[in-house]
Amino acid sequence: MSDIAVILPDGTELSVEEGATVRDAAFAIGPGLGKDTVAGVVDGELVDKETPLHDGADLVIVTDQSDEYLDVLRHSAAHVFAQALQRLHPEAKLTIGPWTDDGFYYDVTSVDLEQEDLEAIEDEMRDIIEEDLDIERVLVDREEALEKYADNPYKRDILEEEAAGDDELSFYQQGEFEDLCKGPHVESTGEIGAVKLLNISAAYWRGDEENDTLTRVYGTAFESESDLEEFLDMREEAKERDHRKLGQELNLFAIDETTGPGLPLYQPNGKRILDELADYAKQLNLDAGYDPVETPHLFRTELWKKSGHYENYVDDMFLLDVNDEEYGLKPMNCPGHATIFDQQSWSYRDLPVRYFEDGKVYRKEQRGELSGLSRVWSFTIDDGHLFVRPDQIEDEINLIIDNILTVFDTFGLDAEVALATRPEKSVGSDEIWEQAETQLRAVLDDSGIDYGIEAGDGAFYGPKIDFAFKDALGRKWDGPTVQLDFNMPDRFDLTYTGEDNEDHQPVMIHRALYGSYERFFMVLIEHFNGKFPFWLAPEQVRILPISDDQMGYAKKLQYELGDFRVDIEDRSWTLGRKIREAQTDRVPYMVIVGGDEEEAGTISVRDRKEREAKDVSVEAFRDHLHSEYDKKRPEPDFLADEE
Ligand SMILES: [Zn+2]
Ligand SMILES: [Zn+2]
Repeated sequence: MSDIAVILPDGTELSVEEGATVRDAAFAIGPGLGKDTVAGVVDGELVDKETPLHDGADLVIVTDQSDEYLDVLRHSAAHVFAQALQRLHPEAKLTIGPWTDDGFYYDVTSVDLEQEDLEAIEDEMRDIIEEDLDIERVLVDREEALEKYADNPYKRDILEEEAAGDDELSFYQQGEFEDLCKGPHVESTGEIGAVKLLNISAAYWRGDEENDTLTRVYGTAFESESDLEEFLDMREEAKERDHRKLGQELNLFAIDETTGPGLPLYQPNGKRILDELADYAKQLNLDAGYDPVETPHLFRTELWKKSGHYENYVDDMFLLDVNDEEYGLKPMNCPGHATIFDQQSWSYRDLPVRYFEDGKVYRKEQRGELSGLSRVWSFTIDDGHLFVRPDQIEDEINLIIDNILTVFDTFGLDAEVALATRPEKSVGSDEIWEQAETQLRAVLDDSGIDYGIEAGDGAFYGPKIDFAFKDALGRKWDGPTVQLDFNMPDRFDLTYTGEDNEDHQPVMIHRALYGSYERFFMVLIEHFNGKFPFWLAPEQVRILPISDDQMGYAKKLQYELGDFRVDIEDRSWTLGRKIREAQTDRVPYMVIVGGDEEEAGTISVRDRKEREAKDVSVEAFRDHLHSEYDKKRPEPDFLADEE
């Protein structure tokens, strides 16, 4: 037999016989690794260790030490769930049960399940783990597979769609249970250290509202009980910080059924924060040489046809008929900005041209997918579009990354960065892709940022850099992207006059610093647990008079601190209660004044961390507030040195 070569993570080639599996390759590297092999990652896809390799495959061997091991374990836990469910509710029909970022789910039907039923199923799952059943992969021919699922239209659907071309299908068996599945799985149910069923929700078959409603059961699994405990604690904390809950408690925003789903209404507290965010981004943009522009919410669909959005996004667009002409709410700001660029003639010396706009966009997500501020119908992108010469890409990207990282730093968020490269289907010449990717890589390498490569994950019109926010709880959220675009300048026939007096096409760069305000606001609410930094806080200082006698003095102080958002607590409560209330409202500073303070013309200051200082002069406090506002520190720090 002839040999094939596979490529290992360090770039070396390993020669194996044709038909060799992931496990064979692992044994070829070393017998220890061969024995420890749980699964493989072939060309980026997690697969069973018995999967045959092809020539040129990228191969990663997965053992119980690999990051992917938890995915494998959780998928096996999903099977254990399905087995337990069928033991207790034999009428249940199974559909799909994948692993997720923090556990697994299984969509089932023909069974009535409530939250209270989960405990019994979980007990049964623990029994199955105790039984330590071997998990075995079995190949079954198509006819037999279809017969097995004579009563299950969903599994038959999978056989006819995803597995249409396969004559042999893999099933995984454990004890009396079997499931059509590509795997991979752990060796036996006993390997699963800890399981927990979390909650139930509704789902649609294939995620489509037109299809049958299914019951989705979420769960998670870990190698050990202590890992599970840690996860559950974190989950509790995340629930406490849920932006929908805090949004209501702190009067930040509301989503009202009467005004429409996915259409957030910002209350004054929320709007104050958004305004601070907008001012901050605007200043960064102006400093970086951007020019402000503005576009309307509505365009003729001619524009969307020209940009190509109509073809690809028409199902997600809100369309209107105006005097027999079709208009659409804008799902993106780019075509508007490209049209603005096109109003003037440009020379190579004028480039780069940089536009920015806080542009409201509208995208019709499925109603079932809408959630708080994370999935909405209307949102505002802090959108920037640059029109640059190909030789300017590197400098411009450098500047943009600098600005994005400044934003991460200001909010105390960690960044996770990835470069997404040319996909199989793409527009633009080999030369321009090569040049663009090389420049993006050079910028990232020079910046010293740790970044991953998402091979083939770029847009069809250009490569991009994706940033994810990592918040205080270590969770990851989609953040801003920097995207090169060779397509839209072509569709809009954008040009500039080169040094050679000929017309040339600029490259367009799409970028944001926050992404969308809605998503970023959500991240900040949860990241700060509602304790916004001083500069963002909707109410920055609350004056607490000890008795009504100090009301006049309190009003004088409010006036003297008039550059800031200062309220007076005027309810006739005890001081203790006033302090607790300010603490609940997460006000950064409390100014406490009684008869002594009034007489001395001073104040007492207390912060959210319960630090206190007496006999403070109003001037010293006010000066500090100015510097704290300008420095945009994440925590109040006037009293930091007093501890
Ligand atoms: Zn499976
Ligand atoms: Zn854009």
